[in-house]
Amino acid sequence: VHTYVLAGARDRGDHPAVIDGSRPDGPRLSYAQLDASVGRLAAGLHEAGLRKGEVLALFSPNTIVYPVVFYATTTLGAIVSTVNALYTVDELTSQLRDSGARFLVTISLFLDRAVPAAQAAGIEHVIVCDTAEGFRSIQDLMATDGPVPEVEINPAEDVAVMPYSSGTTGKAKGVMLTHRNIVANMAQSSGMQPTGPDDRVLAILPMFHIYGITVLLNHALHYGTTVVVLPRFELELFLTALAEHKVTKVPVAPPIVVALAKHPVVDKFDLSALRAVLCAAAPLDADTGHLCAERLGVRVVQGYGMTELSPVSHVVPDSDANPPDGTVGKLIPNTECRIIDPATGEDAEAGAAGEFWIRGPQVMKGYFARGADTASMIDGDGWLHTGDIGRVDGEGNFFIVDRLKELIKYKGYQVPPAELEAVLLSDPRIADAAVIGVVDAEGEEVPKAFVVRAAGAESLGEGDVVEFVAGRVAPYKKVRVVEFIDAVPRALSGKILRRELRQR
Ligand code: ATP
Ligand code: MG
Repeated sequence: VHTYVLAGARDRGDHPAVIDGSRPDGPRLSYAQLDASVGRLAAGLHEAGLRKGEVLALFSPNTIVYPVVFYATTTLGAIVSTVNALYTVDELTSQLRDSGARFLVTISLFLDRAVPAAQAAGIEHVIVCDTAEGFRSIQDLMATDGPVPEVEINPAEDVAVMPYSSGTTGKAKGVMLTHRNIVANMAQSSGMQPTGPDDRVLAILPMFHIYGITVLLNHALHYGTTVVVLPRFELELFLTALAEHKVTKVPVAPPIVVALAKHPVVDKFDLSALRAVLCAAAPLDADTGHLCAERLGVRVVQGYGMTELSPVSHVVPDSDANPPDGTVGKLIPNTECRIIDPATGEDAEAGAAGEFWIRGPQVMKGYFARGADTASMIDGDGWLHTGDIGRVDGEGNFFIVDRLKELIKYKGYQVPPAELEAVLLSDPRIADAAVIGVVDAEGEEVPKAFVVRAAGAESLGEGDVVEFVAGRVAPYKKVRVVEFIDAVPRALSGKILRRELRQR
């Protein structure tokens, strides 16, 4: 991974690789500094005992040294297990134990969670990226004058990164991505969404997620693009960084597109350098996309993927002037996609919806220590069963309908909750909505809507909601139960946490 991503780094000299965008004149690393730091830290980690095949857990928000730790670890043939920065002590402990991590690299601010988790998981080596009394820092490790060890890596077999799937639908699982997976995916997606040395991308997506690792770090740094780094999402900080650093492209998730499209404060910032907003991770409503595009004078396009695909399989190419509304894009090169009718297990008819099965060099090696889960996800012919339902038009534009597991089975019909949510959101009296299946008195699964009333719509009642939807969908898709709530539970990526709604 490091050899490929940092191939041209030394020759780019002073050109900035990463800039801390959270304050004016924030610290930065040039390409030459990034390259040298990676080598020094690899030598230091080796001296501290990290060896090929061992796991280093990286528990940190986005910082400019995140990529240094990341590539230093892969240089040694060790495995970076990136950890969600919001994890509690219990969640962190569980990932550390599950992955068998020997090293934990974190920041001083996270030590109150990192230390108890490291103790519970029996990890000796806790290292900080900044400074904290009583802890070794990456600066200490980089002070070594030891050599950068030469490690033989088999790209097709050796795991480079092991992020954990987001845990939206079940328990988070370690996803083993090889060097080949990672390099392939950045090469596959690069022609469709090119960036160069004159571009600046903003790292607001978490670097612990594979979307951030591939699209921000690997892709940007391979092509000499400057990455402006933010540790967390706050709208004004985000807009300030976009304006001050003349950011040209920003990969995001749907809630950020909503803010860019609708929040009044956006008008106060000069975002004239911005050309493109790339959105993935959860469904983006087409109207919101258009609103954002018109307001900022930028392109707003989608991509689709999942952790198990390193993560990209589809993206709207920069060269497509007018992609259809709602498309998640075209297949990236060297990737095949079948659309399988869940009822028959056979290829769906042309244009019909079905489960995406994907095959290509970006398909994960497997889930760590979960052979049965891997076998149920990747079949004998190498097809990864995504669990997402979608379709393709005659021009090769793909669309996501919903997740297979979320489909509501009403009297033999399949009702996609995402479609009902889009209908509900088109009612101005509704601020937000989520739909799940619940079992009614007759034992039938029926769609239930959780609705957040818009300001001024206090009189909106259950009957109004049922009637609004009934006028717009086939009778079998009607919403049959409505509950009013204050807020829809969502992950930061914009994914609705339907598990939480079911537990209520
Ligand atoms: P888990 O598998 O642990 O339950 P997760 O599937 O949410 O969590 P990720 O790998 O982060 O974890 O997310 C991948 C999923 O995100 C896809 O399977 C798909 O359902 C959804 N997704 C990604 N891009 C899009 C998109 N453009 N539109 C709609 N959904 C998307
Ligand atoms: Mg998943």
